[in-house]
Amino acid sequence: MTKQFRIAVIPGDGIGPEVIDAALPALEAAAATEGARMNWHRLPYGADHYLATGETLPDAGFAELRDGVDGILLGALGDPRVPDNQHARDILLGLRFRLDLYVNFRPCRLLHPALCPLRERDPRTPGRSIDFAIFRENTEGGYLGQGTAEHVGTAEERQVTHEIHTAPKVTRILRAAFEWAKANGRTRITMSDKSNAVPAHRLWGRLFAEVGAAYPDITQEHRYVDALAMELVRDPERFQVIVTNNLFGDILSDLGAELVGGLGLAASANIHPGRPGLFEPVHGSAPTIAGRGIANPLASILSGSLLLDHLGLAGAAERLTAAVRADLDAGVTTPDLGGTASTTEVGRWITAWLQHSRS
Ligand code: ATP
Repeated sequence: MTKQFRIAVIPGDGIGPEVIDAALPALEAAAATEGARMNWHRLPYGADHYLATGETLPDAGFAELRDGVDGILLGALGDPRVPDNQHARDILLGLRFRLDLYVNFRPCRLLHPALCPLRERDPRTPGRSIDFAIFRENTEGGYLGQGTAEHVGTAEERQVTHEIHTAPKVTRILRAAFEWAKANGRTRITMSDKSNAVPAHRLWGRLFAEVGAAYPDITQEHRYVDALAMELVRDPERFQVIVTNNLFGDILSDLGAELVGGLGLAASANIHPGRPGLFEPVHGSAPTIAGRGIANPLASILSGSLLLDHLGLAGAAERLTAAVRADLDAGVTTPDLGGTASTTEVGRWITAWLQHSRS
């Protein structure tokens, strides 16, 4: 019997609709390799909808995303016509917080040697093999907007933002990272904080040891974030799983993305294990290149691969990633990666590869 999935698609703004249109057929073809069928449910939320109706994410829309779908795929949000990007905040942060998507999962896997900006480690063994995943806490830290502002605009201005770390939330992100490591055959996990300078981070150390006690087969290590940033550039191959707070995860995952090809390929998942998740390319709406057919759809396609994996279609997810590798090997890429293909051509090439490799 065909497995059916109902997926909400929010193409959004700028290059969002272009990269999503290129990605959906590729996802369908990948899902079909495992006998699964994707039913897309396209939603209009984004800048156009906001400017026309004043609505960002209406309650009924939110309820449907919470209860009526197996996952959400998002293109990009952000539009110069909405200077404060209120709609993007409401939709993206609203979904992250209201659905309690506490894991921000960012794989950093090098899919083609030419994409890595680092030189060879050893000229005798060419080709780097970077493959680590970052687990970023997605619901607290300094991102709750709590704090005070005094004497704003004066020489005495004083800004205070609370950085919040609570044991239940730190515990659950640590556990998610360990569980993923165990399920994916990873043998080392690195927890990063700045507990030598920020006392609140000591909680992470205590809980890392407590949670880690249940995973004796996984090597557990700690790095201060400054040291980790250096080591990630010097020797990225030694890392397998990194777990850290919201702010450090934000920064380190961009560093990680750059090590394996940059914004055009960086995919992310916002997850609450056991529930439908939100999958999105890391890049924004890139208004300067929107409408020109040159946006790279690979980040969206790889976000789709994370969606398939979360739906339990691990084989289809791997096929999709294999198709992206094949596409990179064939050099069918958009101008940001040095190629001459259009957004649509990249999507079609990958879809065709999946259809042919099936037969
Ligand atoms: P935001 O604030 O939403 O992150 P931004 O414009 O600052 O938006 P991005 O939209 O991520 O940042 O893009 C920054 C630049 O990176 C773009 O102007 C574009 O040149 C390039 N870029 C981003 N995504 C892509 C893509 N998918 N394909 C090609 N180039 C891209």
